[in-house]
Amino acid sequence: MLALLLAGALACPATGLSVAVLGSGGPIAEGRAGPAYVVLVNGRPRLLVDAGPGALLRLGEAGIPPETLDAIAISHLHVDHAGDLPAILKSANFADPPARLALFGPDGRGLFPGLAQHMASLLEARSGAFRYLSDWLAGPQPRLVITEVASGDSDSGHETLLIDRPDYRLSALAVHHGVVPALAFVVRSGGQTAVLAGDQSEFSDGFDKALAGSRPGLLVMHHAIPEGPGQPRGLHRPPSAIGQAAAGLGAGRLVLSHNMKRALDRQAEGLAAIRQAYAGAVSIAHDGGCYPASKPE
Ligand SMILES: [Zn+2]
Repeated sequence: MLALLLAGALACPATGLSVAVLGSGGPIAEGRAGPAYVVLVNGRPRLLVDAGPGALLRLGEAGIPPETLDAIAISHLHVDHAGDLPAILKSANFADPPARLALFGPDGRGLFPGLAQHMASLLEARSGAFRYLSDWLAGPQPRLVITEVASGDSDSGHETLLIDRPDYRLSALAVHHGVVPALAFVVRSGGQTAVLAGDQSEFSDGFDKALAGSRPGLLVMHHAIPEGPGQPRGLHRPPSAIGQAAAGLGAGRLVLSHNMKRALDRQAEGLAAIRQAYAGAVSIAHDGGCYPASKPE
């Protein structure tokens, strides 16, 4: 009953694998929540992928208490993808009995601490910025169970299995997002596959190689830049490279999220560039939209 009500709040189907877009925007205050996705299996919310600013508000609107999720998976530790994490943990602190959560994200490199150090900088009992929430990390069996995924080789295409349950599997693979340690996530359930590509440039060779021809029913890619010169192509795929990835994977449906005004302002040109390579269905996500992962035909 609960699952049906939750699915109704998000207009997600009660069967199969689907992804609800809680936040379809990027880092700039342009009227959309930051990237945040709920993966539903048979109508039941199981995973939160990314926790951008506004994710907690949208979880509440969707009627999803964060402590009911199996895990939170963070693609990378930019503010627009991880900024709401402490707020989500604070909300889950009100759960009775006390909540446990699994948290997945990248290891560290250069400017970026790994997920464990990132969370310690927030929650550590003596020096954490939000040390009043340090009980999440306390004791021999902390309630926040942190797993870092190796992100250093975005050419390898190696998939790391993170969750293996009877009804679904979650895995991660490294992608290229400039100097930022970054991951894409893949969810497989009952013959259906959803790929959440995260922020990635067109130099994510391992992503293209590992998933080539895998025919995911749903591919969520980030629409952060328009086509043409002067754009940060070392960080993000332009629409032409999004279309090439969608075609290479054989995606059943492409959903564009992380929609930034600079890309939306040139939407027609961008969609035409995608169409050069990819002939499948394309949707521009909005906050609260739900997208089923169709089965390959
Ligand atoms: Zn981003």
